[in-house]
Amino acid sequence: MSILSHTLITLFFFILMEGVAWFTHKYIMHGFGWVWHQSHHEPRKGKLELNDLYGMVFAVPSCLLIIYGSENMDWRFSAGLGIALYGLAYFLVHDVFVHQRVKWLTKTQVPYFRAMRLTHHLHHAVHTKEGAEAFGFLFVLPKYVRRFRG
Ligand SMILES: [Zn+2]
Ligand SMILES: [Zn+2]
Repeated sequence: MSILSHTLITLFFFILMEGVAWFTHKYIMHGFGWVWHQSHHEPRKGKLELNDLYGMVFAVPSCLLIIYGSENMDWRFSAGLGIALYGLAYFLVHDVFVHQRVKWLTKTQVPYFRAMRLTHHLHHAVHTKEGAEAFGFLFVLPKYVRRFRG
């Protein structure tokens, strides 16, 4: 497989993961998976929260794809890499930039990132399973970008 095909597959899975994350957040985490996710809508006690387990769950298919795909360097390797890169981006933007679990990137005023942070705070304005909005993450809907770009 060419480098170009690998890159396109990685990119495809990266983008796909935003859809998977949105779907999971809206229908699973705010559904029967609320038992884990609730911890993320309440003040954190200590360094970790039960919601962090979702990251572990998503890491499993990523690891398996990378392991099996690396035997022949087929599409599964690039797919697993795309999922892993999404996980990394999600951690950096969601946990570090938005929730400040690590004090870093505190003063970013890039309009798109500002809109992303405020849109996610809008999601957190609701502390219950029902009634929340803005379930997506890295890709901020145009209506929120217009509202929050500052
Ligand atoms: Zn939520
Ligand atoms: Zn959050």
